[in-house]
Amino acid sequence: MPYIDSYYARTLADSRQRASLERAVEADVCIIGGGLAGLTAALHLARAGKSVVVLEAQSVGWGASGRNGGFVAPGFATDLDHIAHMAGRDRAHALYRLSLEGVSLVRETIQALAISGTDPMPGIMSVLRHEGAAALEAKRDRMERDFGYRLEFMSRDQVQASLVSAKYFQALRDPSAFHFHPLNYLRGIAAEIEHLGGQIFEQSAVAAIDLEGSVKTVATAEGKVAARDVLFAGGGYIGRLLPALARSFIPIATYVLLTESAPDRIRQAIRISDAVSDNRRAGDYYRCVAGGERILWGGKITTRISDPRDLTERLRRAMVATFPQLDGVKVEAAWSGLMSYARHLMPQIGRLRPHVWYCTAFGGHGMNTTAIGGKIAAEAITGESDRIRLFEPFGLAWTFGPLGRAAVQLAYWGMQVQDWWQERGAR
Ligand SMILES: Cc1cc2nc3c(=O)[nH]c(=O)nc-3n(C[C@H](O)[C@H](O)[C@H](O)COP(=O)(O)OP(=O)(O)OC[C@H]3O[C@@H](n4cnc5c(N)ncnc54)[C@H](O)[C@@H]3O)c2cc1C
Repeated sequence: MPYIDSYYARTLADSRQRASLERAVEADVCIIGGGLAGLTAALHLARAGKSVVVLEAQSVGWGASGRNGGFVAPGFATDLDHIAHMAGRDRAHALYRLSLEGVSLVRETIQALAISGTDPMPGIMSVLRHEGAAALEAKRDRMERDFGYRLEFMSRDQVQASLVSAKYFQALRDPSAFHFHPLNYLRGIAAEIEHLGGQIFEQSAVAAIDLEGSVKTVATAEGKVAARDVLFAGGGYIGRLLPALARSFIPIATYVLLTESAPDRIRQAIRISDAVSDNRRAGDYYRCVAGGERILWGGKITTRISDPRDLTERLRRAMVATFPQLDGVKVEAAWSGLMSYARHLMPQIGRLRPHVWYCTAFGGHGMNTTAIGGKIAAEAITGESDRIRLFEPFGLAWTFGPLGRAAVQLAYWGMQVQDWWQERGAR
């Protein structure tokens, strides 16, 4: 199996493996990383008539893009007010509209390519774990006023008819957001890139790069690519390949579990097909998969790269703390994935120097932003648009190395304490 054990790997629509790079090839653009960023960029470059080579260290979609929660919703890893604080209101609004475009892009690509096994389901609920109707209604009104975007307010009674948990209060439901099978999506766009003449090499980790001169060289253990443009799209897995990138992101792990098949038990707790996330700073996200037979439950973040030994039990406890009626439902698989976070919490999409590009740091809210990020990186490379400039305020800021990592972990624990304190008042 070319993937870690996950729900997505167990339900692959196509399991074809690709060759590794074992020769010298030439291309207009070489893309490092076959996740959502790299493959979306490759798809748009191939559609624009560029010759493109994607080098993926493992298999397409092996990283965060093929093992995540599968939520596709507008927004970024930080909220609109924080973005406006960093970049001004107008730019923040333009960026938010871009994130809406990212959601549509994924939906339309599924339809246009008729990608099988993606199972898109409409609806994502964002649930409060404390009283907060007025704040939710104000948010709903703001989205309608500023973006013409419709969210549905749900009272506590409506929420509890859908999610049988004493923990929950009101919710906002986004009927235009959706959830899906991200790995089958990635494999679908990989097939289309090849159909358009692009080349994808798997098991082809980039080990060395020479970015001087008008032709750049990207080398793997047994082959190399000569290209005019190089795009770095290695997410949280890129390591130290490019020093300017290495010092500007923190890899953060998050975790997901898959329950056994228990449709009757699950129905006693979760009575909707929407995906759900709660409003805590360090919250849970989950949805039913396999036609409601199983739950895919995610949560927790750490700065440690290796999995905690009690990972499964920690996630299971979080699930049962919200839905005690699920105690006894067994966990069949649990896995982790690395996200890439910048200090400013926004994506890093830009040009390092002429013909050297990066498209990374999408954090935990990447299924829309990574897609549109890949597209606008491609537009910048072809010269079709300069929308990439919207990301200029969010450069490659230093993350303070190990100190930064420790600070993130401390901040996360601090957020958990704040969450606990806020909920304490709600009981
Ligand atoms: C567990 C989990 C749950 C999440 N849930 C959600 C969610 O529900 N909704 C949402 O919007 N976002 C979610 N996210 C975030 C989202 O998955 C990411 O933001 C997004 O997938 C990042 O895409 P990417 O292409 O930048 O990185 P990745 O998908 O990680 O792809 C990077 C690829 O680059 C390859 N690579 C790295 N270095 C090299 C090299 N030297 N040579 C060749 N290849 C290399 C890696 O093997 C990898 O395949 C989640 C993330 C995780 C980990």
